[in-house]
Amino acid sequence: MQDYIKPEPNTKNYQQMLDKIIDSWQKDPDKRGRRPRLLMHSCCAPCSSAVLDYLCRYFDITLFYYNPNISTEAEFDHRVSELKRLIHEMGIDVERTDTDGVRLGAVFVVVPEYDHMEFIDVVRGHEKDPERGERCHICYRQRLEKTAAYMDEIRRASEESSDAESSLSLPYDYFCTTLTISPMKSSEILNRIGSEVGELHDEAFLPSDFKKRGGYQKSIELSKEYDLYRQDFCGCEFSKAASERERAERVQRKIQEL
Ligand code: SF4
Repeated sequence: MQDYIKPEPNTKNYQQMLDKIIDSWQKDPDKRGRRPRLLMHSCCAPCSSAVLDYLCRYFDITLFYYNPNISTEAEFDHRVSELKRLIHEMGIDVERTDTDGVRLGAVFVVVPEYDHMEFIDVVRGHEKDPERGERCHICYRQRLEKTAAYMDEIRRASEESSDAESSLSLPYDYFCTTLTISPMKSSEILNRIGSEVGELHDEAFLPSDFKKRGGYQKSIELSKEYDLYRQDFCGCEFSKAASERERAERVQRKIQEL
């Protein structure tokens, strides 16, 4: 069986679409009297590193760590603690002022309760799908659905109460995902699913292709700089088995070459 499905070519320039949105806020920062607020689904610390490095200048960001696809609670907890360590060591978990004197908001991390069965239930019947196949599309959709639903929840709560207790209770302008930084993930599929989910929830999905402009390379550099845990499988038990299979095949090939 084919292990990976080739990524679909982009039908739109998602990086350019993101540039336009950033530009519109930069040109008219007072249009809403504040910086845009972004709810960013985060898959792990290495992928989040370069995206945060890039977007913190333009958005006030909350990271939404919803990943029921991760195969064990220990792996889930390890990835969350690496994410929290990263934002602390980057110095972005506090309000600060950038070199142009612009006030930047603290980055928060929201971690919904981990329940791996939520993932297993939706991918039942797709256990043998190759990576980037139907199972992955379902997995992306589940994570983006939950992100948009959380955005709805915050919006509704803020409409019902006029006193926002903290920045975490203010409504968001956009949601997005760090997943488009991975060369293993199709930006086309992620952007397509993201905009469908956005339409369903009547929330704005922020288009992205974070792997562009050296984004993926930057995530490797930052992972080294912050000594981040870089997992060698995507997250679920099926990707872990595929990664172990590949490793065994590589070893086998090396042995045959001797
Ligand atoms: S390989 Fe990754 S994206 Fe695909 S289903 Fe597993 S965890 Fe989700």
